[in-house]
Amino acid sequence: MTQIICSPTKYIQGHGEIRKLGDYCSQLGATRAYAIIDPYIFSVYKKEITYSFEMNEMPLVMTEFKGECSSNQVNEIVAALGLKDAEVIIGIGGGKTLDTAKAVSHMSNLPVVIVPTVASTDAPCSALSVLYTDEGDFDCYLPLKRNPDLVIVDVDIIAKAPARLLVAGMGDALSTFYEARACRESGAITHAGGTSTIAALSLARACLDTLLAEGETALKDVKQGITSPAVEHIIEANIYLSGIGFESGGLAAAHAIHNGLTLHEECRNTLHGEKVAFATIVQLVLEKAPYEEIDQVIDFCKKIGLPVTLKDLGITNKDIDQLMTVAEASCSKDSPIWNMPIEIQALDVLEAILAADARGQ
Ligand SMILES: [Zn+2]
Repeated sequence: MTQIICSPTKYIQGHGEIRKLGDYCSQLGATRAYAIIDPYIFSVYKKEITYSFEMNEMPLVMTEFKGECSSNQVNEIVAALGLKDAEVIIGIGGGKTLDTAKAVSHMSNLPVVIVPTVASTDAPCSALSVLYTDEGDFDCYLPLKRNPDLVIVDVDIIAKAPARLLVAGMGDALSTFYEARACRESGAITHAGGTSTIAALSLARACLDTLLAEGETALKDVKQGITSPAVEHIIEANIYLSGIGFESGGLAAAHAIHNGLTLHEECRNTLHGEKVAFATIVQLVLEKAPYEEIDQVIDFCKKIGLPVTLKDLGITNKDIDQLMTVAEASCSKDSPIWNMPIEIQALDVLEAILAADARGQ
């Protein structure tokens, strides 16, 4: 069996890193850069970013990310790039900005530097972009040739983002170990293209241990505007440990059930990581995990404000038909639910959702 682990070539995390972007791009050997930036970050940090490239005498073209991470948008940027002669693509912002930068780098065969400004999911380190239609509906997953060349995390910027985003990132990171454990047991093929490794499972375990030990403190600290070691550790867990953990450790029932939940009208206002947190409890119920393990996850979620019941997710009417639609979608053809080491049917998922909800209450 072929085992594969992948990761960004380099991961950098620290204070004020946004002011060193020019240095890092220069170290990659690039002489011209093209950056796609979230409008808010552009308005606040434009000066710092420009200055760091000027210091390296590197021409930088900056474009504000507008609209959607769609094929049209990506193709437009790739076409514009041809005229600018860029040697490195930089994405600075949230998920869609980063996915656009990754897709542009993939299409134009250029290295990419990823600068996440929120820690709400574990997507930044992965070799995957999610494409949407121009109207904002899900279009397709675009598997990339390689992981980002550099991921640069400025903890000062991330700590200033709304606390709910950091909490959602902890929800996304919470599932990582349990899904990786399930894949290890079943021998599933992960996103990395092979079976799991000791390394990926260890990082997933470290991710969970960090969340349980420091998640609550980190949340308290960011709310007070303090970038403490706990905040730094949670940012590393959300972005790096969970990033390698999910891509090379594998996804399983938690993300499958998350995908099903996206179809439920009443879940519309919950974030990715919030749905994943509840779906993690559902996975543990499906696996018949020991009650102590399930309760440890529920307690953690309650402490930091992640959903543990259907009501917390916004689902107030427990219409069985609607929940069955969620369960059936979780068991669709290409769902990661088939990575579980046990046999599962839609009815099992429905029962586990209701049981998780009852236990959460
Ligand atoms: Zn996720």
